[in-house]
Amino acid sequence: MQIRVLGCSGGIGGDRHTTALLLDDDILIDAGSGVTRLTLDELARVDHVFITHSHMDHILGLPLLLDSVGAERGRPVTVHGLPEVLQILMDHIFNWRIWPDFARIPSPHAPFLAYQTLQPGQAVTLDTRSVTPIPAHHVVPACGYLLRGEGGGLLFSGDTASHEALWTLAGSTPDLRHLIVETSFPNALEDLARASLHYHPRALAADLSAFRPDIPVWITHLKPGSERLIMDELHAALPGRQVEALREEQVFRF
Ligand SMILES: [Zn+2]
Ligand SMILES: [Zn+2]
Repeated sequence: MQIRVLGCSGGIGGDRHTTALLLDDDILIDAGSGVTRLTLDELARVDHVFITHSHMDHILGLPLLLDSVGAERGRPVTVHGLPEVLQILMDHIFNWRIWPDFARIPSPHAPFLAYQTLQPGQAVTLDTRSVTPIPAHHVVPACGYLLRGEGGGLLFSGDTASHEALWTLAGSTPDLRHLIVETSFPNALEDLARASLHYHPRALAADLSAFRPDIPVWITHLKPGSERLIMDELHAALPGRQVEALREEQVFRF
């Protein structure tokens, strides 16, 4: 299994792209502006998109992906998400006003887009890979994902503030190889982090201090311009712990 980081910033600017992970060549986890890194051929090979939540930075590449390669593919892209998340996409994006309803065109029988609802904890198996939604604690309905292949698993928090289920799962997942967890704001913006239900370094350090030390931890969704400060605050709070900023175009293979 291969996971390529297409975007992992909390925003844009320069080389920054927002959240999108490519699992092998056919599964996207979120469809933020990182999707724009893909060539036309790579876009056309995406058969499944698993959305964590409906915020713009996680979905903005999806309408354009469908429009760019929908006609060439000959089969729909399946968009997976919690029922509430898919309903928001139907109501507010694919509503003919912001973008066409690709679940009905070119025809309802052979559309560019097919919706598939997910339930937390219920794995979707695709060949040798499985994608399992995990709980998240955010201002809109949201999940993270556990990605598993024959060589082990990677846990991705999605956008979230501190919540126990993430750490219970991380601590009990056999063959866990990597943890990707968000830290959106520096400590000085703790109030904003709490109001918007995101992690800040103090909160993540408190949770990580009880987490098994052998698993590499990768930080995602850093606020543009505050990357260095957030990582410095994490390193100061977690001496000796393997915690690094996730990098765009980083590739995990296991
Ligand atoms: Zn969000
Ligand atoms: Zn976000």
